Amino acid sequence: MSLHQLELSQFIAGFWRLDSWNRSPSETLALIEHYLSLGVTSMDHADIYGEYSCEALFGKALSLNSSLREQMQIISKCGIKPAFPSTKDRYVNHYDTSYQHIITSAENSLSALNIDYLDLLLIHRPDPLMNADEVAQAFEQLYQTGKVRHFGVSNFTPAQFDLLQSRLEHPLITNQLEISPMQLSTLHDGTLDHCQQYRCPPMAWSCLGGGEIFTGTSAKAVRLRETLTQVAKAHDTDDISQIIYAWVLALPSQPKPIIGSGNLDRISAAVASKQITLDKQQWFSIWQASTGHSVP
Ligand code: NAP
Repeated sequence: MSLHQLELSQFIAGFWRLDSWNRSPSETLALIEHYLSLGVTSMDHADIYGEYSCEALFGKALSLNSSLREQMQIISKCGIKPAFPSTKDRYVNHYDTSYQHIITSAENSLSALNIDYLDLLLIHRPDPLMNADEVAQAFEQLYQTGKVRHFGVSNFTPAQFDLLQSRLEHPLITNQLEISPMQLSTLHDGTLDHCQQYRCPPMAWSCLGGGEIFTGTSAKAVRLRETLTQVAKAHDTDDISQIIYAWVLALPSQPKPIIGSGNLDRISAAVASKQITLDKQQWFSIWQASTGHSVP
């Protein structure tokens, strides 16, 4: 694997929840412009976010000022086929990483987003029926036709990543992973070590546990809120989300957090957290609050 040409911004804008924000196209454009003004140029989508409806809302907003397209990197994902609502043809949630589905999904995303090319396409989830040669064929076709410029994966183990990489001409440029004080698996199962080994920065989803860190009543969420509040005080902020992002940014695999908020002030606060550096004991106090025990 070699150095990757696509430069994603340090923070990434997540649009999973866009269709729940009830924004007009001009309000969505204002949100996009807010992100760009903060240096957040990478926009994360997926075919299944509202079954292309989030991509379509984004595309409508972008068409109000299409010159912004060249200032951003647009990411989409494919491979999950939800059966909701259930139909005769689709009656069980499943994965599909066949050649035809990857091509069709990418083309549908381009049409919903109303753009000519995706900067980055990810396989959304590892598929036990994935034939790596077939995925490689689909990626090559999308690359050769200029529809997708770069490729990556999401939620892949190192072995799944290496398998797919072994069949590709071009380097996979990221593995999009759940990384949060609420979810430590990738810190300890070799996944982030693999990202560091290949200098392939992961994208980090649900850093705030999808909001659960603020509202959850589990012992873990309660412990985390208490510890995060103490660490926040030491950094002269009362916004624990900033401490969470600083905790993620401290990882040596250099994750790029995907911001999931629809609130402009929270988005600004998230990006400002790059100014905060946690010392090792602050970092481990958050780890300890998550696991419920000290390091061995
Ligand atoms: P998140 O940042 O963990 O959660 C965002 C949620 O937390 C929003 O509903 C937000 O509400 C709420 N929130 C933020 N600050 C809050 C506060 N101070 N108090 C209470 N609630 C607060 O991220 P996420 O949305 O779950 O995921 C981020 C992005 O990652 C998604 O948009 C998507 O692009 C990507 N993703 C990828 C995968 C994958 O499998 N690859 C899976 C899930 C997500 P407000 O809007 O009101 O701020």
